[in-house]
Amino acid sequence: MKDHEYLTAHNAQHMWHPMGHPGEARGNNPTVITKADGVHITDLQGHSVVDAVGGLWCVNLGYSNDVVKQAIADQLFELPYYSAFFGTSNPTAIEASHAVTDFFAEDGMTRAFFTSGGSDSVETCLRLARQYHRLRGAPTRTKFLSLKKGYHGTHFGGASVNGNNRFRTAYEPMLPGCFHLPSPYTYRNPFNETDPAKLAQLIAQAFEDEIEFQGANTIAAFIMEPVQGAGGVIVPDATFMPLMREICDRHGILMISDEVITGFGRLGSWSGARHWGVKPDMMSCAKGITSGYFPVGAAMMSDKVADVFESDQSGEGAIFHGYTYSAHPVGAAAVVACLAETLKADTKTNAGLRGTQLYQGALALAEKYDFIGDVRGGEGLMTGLELVSDPLAKTPMDMGTMKRIQTATYEAGCMVRLAGHSIVMSPPLTISQAETTVILDALGAGLSAV
Ligand code: PMP
Repeated sequence: MKDHEYLTAHNAQHMWHPMGHPGEARGNNPTVITKADGVHITDLQGHSVVDAVGGLWCVNLGYSNDVVKQAIADQLFELPYYSAFFGTSNPTAIEASHAVTDFFAEDGMTRAFFTSGGSDSVETCLRLARQYHRLRGAPTRTKFLSLKKGYHGTHFGGASVNGNNRFRTAYEPMLPGCFHLPSPYTYRNPFNETDPAKLAQLIAQAFEDEIEFQGANTIAAFIMEPVQGAGGVIVPDATFMPLMREICDRHGILMISDEVITGFGRLGSWSGARHWGVKPDMMSCAKGITSGYFPVGAAMMSDKVADVFESDQSGEGAIFHGYTYSAHPVGAAAVVACLAETLKADTKTNAGLRGTQLYQGALALAEKYDFIGDVRGGEGLMTGLELVSDPLAKTPMDMGTMKRIQTATYEAGCMVRLAGHSIVMSPPLTISQAETTVILDALGAGLSAV
C-alpha cells in the first residue's frame, strides 16, 4: 500500500468524493480506511473502531463473511461478466432472482430486475410505474408523490422525489410532476403535532387532499421509506404505512416501498413493509442484498405489476431500461451467498435485540445531555439523535460542534455518521451486545467532549 503522504496528497489532487466539497477536501486529510474485520474498521494510522454506520447502512453481515467472499472469488473465475440484455442470461443471476423473490415472497414480490445499486433501483421502479399505467390504458398517470425528508438516491427521478432540498437545489430543475407530503416527523412538522398516531392521520389527510387537487388519474406512484434513513432516522407510527397503502389502493396509485436501507432485516423484520404489515406493489432494494460486498440492487415487482407487463400483446410492454451491470454474475453470486448467510444467521432477530439496546442507550444519553433534542429508533438497528443548541427553541446544532462530536466519538472508538444535525447509527446486524456497548460508551465520550 502507498504511504500516508502519497494517499493524502493524491486524494486531494485527484479524487472527488460523493456528498463532499472538493475544495474542502484539498485542505483536509481524509480518514483513510485500510482494513475491516467483523464490525471493526481500521484507518491508515492503525486506529481500529466499531463501525456504527455499517459502511453506509449496508454491511449487514459485518466485514468478515468468508462464504460471501469465496462465492465472489469463485464466480470471478467461472464467469466474470456477461450481460442480461437481448435474450442472454447467466446461471448465477437466475439463481439470485429465485433467491431474492423467495426472500420477499411474503411481501408478494415475484419478479426481480437487477441493478447496480439503490439509485438505479429507485429509478427502475419510477420508470416502470409510469409504463405500467400506460400499459393499462392510463397514460395520464405520470406524477409521483413522496415524503419530505425522504431520500431516494441521486438519479434525476430519485432526486426529484427526495424530500430534502440539500440533495436537489444545485441540480434543479428536477423532474416535473413530483409532489411532497409532510414527513411523519414528530419533533418538527407543520401541524405541531407530537403524537405519532395523530400525525399519521394528518398526513393521510394531506395525501387525500393532494390527490384531490392533482387528480388521481394523473398520479403514477407514491414512494416512501418504511423508516426514513438519511433524513435522520424518522420512525413513523405503526399505523402510518398501512394508512398510505389504503389510500394508494383506493385511488389506483402504485405504492413503492424504498427498502434500500430497511430491506434484509435492519428493522428486525425481513422488509420494512412487512414490519408495518403492508404489501407494496414494488420495492427498491440494494445495500443488504450483498451486504456491501458487491454493488447490486434490485427493483422488485408484485404479480399485480408483473402481469400487466407479461400479458401485454402490443409490444409496448418491452422494457427499454437496464444497466450494463444488471444481473452481473459476480454480483449475483454475492446475492445468492449473502441471502443464504442472512437467513442462516437470522440477522433480523439480532437487529431487533441490539436495536433496542442501542435505542435505550441513546435515550439514557438524552437524559444526561439536554442538547439531545430528539432520539429516534426502537425499530431495529437504526437510531438517530437530533442535536440542538437551544432545546426550547429547537435551534439546530451548528455543524462545527456536530463534527467535533463525531471526531471525539471516533477517537473514543466508534465511527458514527452525521445527517445534518442528527447523529445516525446503523451498525452491522451481526453486532454483539458488548460491541453495542462500545458504541454507546464512545458516543457518550464524544458527547461529553462538547
Ligand atoms: N434509497 C434509499 C432509501 C437510500 O437510503 C439510498 C442510499 N442511502 C438510496 C436510495 C440510493 O442508493 P445508492 O446510494 O446505492 O444509489
